[in-house]
Amino acid sequence: MAELSNYPPPERWDDWRELDPQAWPRRVERAYTLVPTVCFNCESACGLLAYVDKETFEIRKLEGNPHHPGSRGRNCAKGPATINQIHDPERILHPLRRRGSRGSGEWERVSWDHVLDTFAERMHAAFAAGRPNDVMYFVGRPGEDGFADRFLETWGCDGHNSHTNVCSSGGRAGYGLWMGTDRPSPDYANAKFTLLISSHLEAGHYFNPHAQRIVEGQHEGGRVAVIDPRLSNTAAMADHWLPAWPGTEAAVLLAIAKVLLDEDLIDRKFVRRWVNWRTYLIYRAPDSAPSFENFLAELAREYARYTPEFAEAESGVPAGTVVQVAREIAAAAPAFCSHIWRAAAAGNLHGWQITRALWLLNVLTGSVGTVGGVSPNAWHKFIPEPWRKPPANQQWNELSWPREYPLAHNEMSFLYPHFLLDGDRGSQPVLFTRVLNPIWTYPDGYTWLRALRDDSAVGLHGAMTPTWSETAWWADYVLPMGHGPERHDTHSYETHAGRWLGFRQPVQRVAMERAGHHVEFTYQANPGEVWEEGEFWIEVSWRADPDGSLGIRRYYESPYRPGEKIRLEEYYRWMFENSVPGLPEKAAAESLDPLAYMRKYGVVEISRDDYESHEQQIPDPGDTEIQGPEQTLTLRSADVTHLPLTGRPDTIAAVVDGAPRRGFNTPSRKLELLQPELIDWGWPEMATPHYRRSHVHRSLIDHGRGEYVLLPTYRLPTLIHSRSGNAKYLGELSHTHPLLVCPEDAARIGLNTGELARVETEIGWFVIKALVTEGIRPGVVAASHHMGRWRLREDKGMERWSSALVDMVEEGDGVTFRRVHGVRPWESSDPSSSRVWWSDAGVHQNITFPVHPDPISGMHCWHQKVRVRPAEPGDRYADIHVEFTRSRAVYRKWMALVRPAAGELRRPIWLFRPVKPTLDAYRLPEDRRSREAREALSSAPSPVAFHTLVDWSPEEVWGPLDGAPTRAAPAGGRIRPDA
Ligand code: SF4
Repeated sequence: MAELSNYPPPERWDDWRELDPQAWPRRVERAYTLVPTVCFNCESACGLLAYVDKETFEIRKLEGNPHHPGSRGRNCAKGPATINQIHDPERILHPLRRRGSRGSGEWERVSWDHVLDTFAERMHAAFAAGRPNDVMYFVGRPGEDGFADRFLETWGCDGHNSHTNVCSSGGRAGYGLWMGTDRPSPDYANAKFTLLISSHLEAGHYFNPHAQRIVEGQHEGGRVAVIDPRLSNTAAMADHWLPAWPGTEAAVLLAIAKVLLDEDLIDRKFVRRWVNWRTYLIYRAPDSAPSFENFLAELAREYARYTPEFAEAESGVPAGTVVQVAREIAAAAPAFCSHIWRAAAAGNLHGWQITRALWLLNVLTGSVGTVGGVSPNAWHKFIPEPWRKPPANQQWNELSWPREYPLAHNEMSFLYPHFLLDGDRGSQPVLFTRVLNPIWTYPDGYTWLRALRDDSAVGLHGAMTPTWSETAWWADYVLPMGHGPERHDTHSYETHAGRWLGFRQPVQRVAMERAGHHVEFTYQANPGEVWEEGEFWIEVSWRADPDGSLGIRRYYESPYRPGEKIRLEEYYRWMFENSVPGLPEKAAAESLDPLAYMRKYGVVEISRDDYESHEQQIPDPGDTEIQGPEQTLTLRSADVTHLPLTGRPDTIAAVVDGAPRRGFNTPSRKLELLQPELIDWGWPEMATPHYRRSHVHRSLIDHGRGEYVLLPTYRLPTLIHSRSGNAKYLGELSHTHPLLVCPEDAARIGLNTGELARVETEIGWFVIKALVTEGIRPGVVAASHHMGRWRLREDKGMERWSSALVDMVEEGDGVTFRRVHGVRPWESSDPSSSRVWWSDAGVHQNITFPVHPDPISGMHCWHQKVRVRPAEPGDRYADIHVEFTRSRAVYRKWMALVRPAAGELRRPIWLFRPVKPTLDAYRLPEDRRSREAREALSSAPSPVAFHTLVDWSPEEVWGPLDGAPTRAAPAGGRIRPDA
């Protein structure tokens, strides 16, 4: 009998009946099989439950999976909107090959066999010739843990490139340098005080699992403070909104730290046990006795400059508020939560130091690993080992890990097109882009466009994507890949103080198999010929090594059928049977095998209430010694065939109060307040958390010249990057993003709500509508940079739910985009398309932004100084103009800030790196560029003298907006003392 119900119980998932709402007012009952999967619309990996029609195997809706420990049945708008992505009448259903030149927009349908053979032939040639780095896998949204890393290792290439340095490297680098783990896991639900430097609650990243727990914490009396120049949804719900000037957040945080120190509100026991204070004293006060009291005195001296009054002068946040927040944090400790992701850490030069300053507050108050505190995410995430793990590769790819950025947290992906166009750094014979749309999502998209259409830079480009994108338009092949409910992945995230493993699965395939149909490949169940990537990688790898002589094929053999090609379900079956603790037992308790259990629930909980893991005692495995001032238990000989992704392979514990304890993933296994690696690699002034003025400091902004700080880094909560484009529900909810301007600035500029503003960047300009609001602090303007989709043809190249038709005109060295028309109704197989009522598609800002690589973290610093003025006569909404020559000049200007590797190694071995190569690959070759770096170093001031660089004068930072780079001298770096 059909009934209304929340969360049908799993025992009825195989046969669930509901009334068909579209048949109303008739009562028409439909039978569904409910198949769990995992959302792919952000990294939170929430559980979804697909309602698959038992007759047609059509997916009718997607709701939350109540058995998922992270999301607990609750999703944001983007989860259920997956149904739109699946049924979009304009989605790409077959592989396409371009005809004519790149970007000509002419496509023809080809077979998957042709695609696989074309790519496999090129890959085979590269691998057989010993040039594995000819092949690159460039990923936007990974949405999985480990599968890509494994196939790259089977190919023996250093071919992983990712979007992380335009996303979260500023946050990650700060956390990583403190604790060896690059993400925090806040225990929001139990927090008594939460401090967020982020718009993330409503901005998409971890939106739902974290948001629901922040609200739970508030319901239990927890208080929330938000530091954000914009009144985000989160700030609006907070107890304190601290709209600091962008880039001054560390001044506020360190003033809070000073209050904690001055008023003795710190957790002395925690700090004494877990901070590397002995190392700190060696560097900061080598003549003093190594006592904890001396450390505290020295620390107080170091941070004495950060008075609340100093913080107020820099940030605009009242000194009294700083003191009040400090005392509230102390009162809440150790149930004090904090979080930074993107936001200030992704906006500013030295943004990673804002992260370091924030984490200092958790450390001083002992709110680390506690109930209501913050843990390293590694404690709350689980990645299972795969079948037959390949060895680490022996390559180093300088297109992604250039020696100029030895401390970069991730690949310097946004410099990739510049590197390709430099001419002397190499080219890319085979490029896979996967859920990646850099022409639109990245800064400086026009440089991307020029590099991607240059066949001397990129030989063969396959765009693997579930949707059309601005970038796919310039590819050689467009390869349609499945959305979340059309593919297999394992995925896990730090949503709370526990561990779980999610299993994304192609729900139509599973439904057909439940009904007794045999499905060999997922594309047979998916719409059209939409493949899932796992099967693609198995096939292309198998064909790239046709006789097994390259040693690749053996990693694609079945664990169950020796010598035969593995099926994707066998890959996961082996993993579930052998690598997931507790899963076989849970499955057996229900008379299921592990794969069947995961097919049934789509997730398994591995542990809960995981706190204080650093205190875990480690049995001494023997053949160890205790090393260094922090008493680090160290193996005399460690296995280095696979370097750990973060941390050293030989250090296993810190001896604390006489017992070896697990500690953290740093070299000392302690929390590294003073990070010796920063000193060794030429940045001694950055070794401890400090405030440095950013490239958008107030002293650099002259309102008299129309200058403001542009803050683009926030998302609208209902949008993803490219992939929400074909979700009609989301387009209807969010389709405009005005420039936020506060009233006093609007009056000075001469703008009213709805009027057009021209915003000039260093390399171009864009035209956008103004919204005058008190929700943005004076001196700052803001517009979310996740909007402004465009297409060059009326009926192809982009979904029409979200994109405007534009003319693209290249003249001289620049390009201008002018909107022909915005979103408008059209006829399709979906009646909704003829009812589209909105016309705005937003403005593509990112393409007018130059690259701003932070010289340490490698993060693109999104914030920028702009000129804002009323639009000129003739300007039209969404006009965009970019000058290529200027973008190259700004690239070179920021490159002049680096301190390259000039010693024995390319980068510190223990620092996080995706898909780490062998130890040997870390060795810096003795070549022309090494010699030049050393020469520059020997003629450059000592590293300490570089301190002056961080207090640039306005001219040094900017030069005139229409000018050439003003800094030409290369910076140095320092040969490691032990080299
Ligand atoms: S928070 Fe992310 S994973 Fe969860 S439903 Fe929303 S988009 Fe999907």
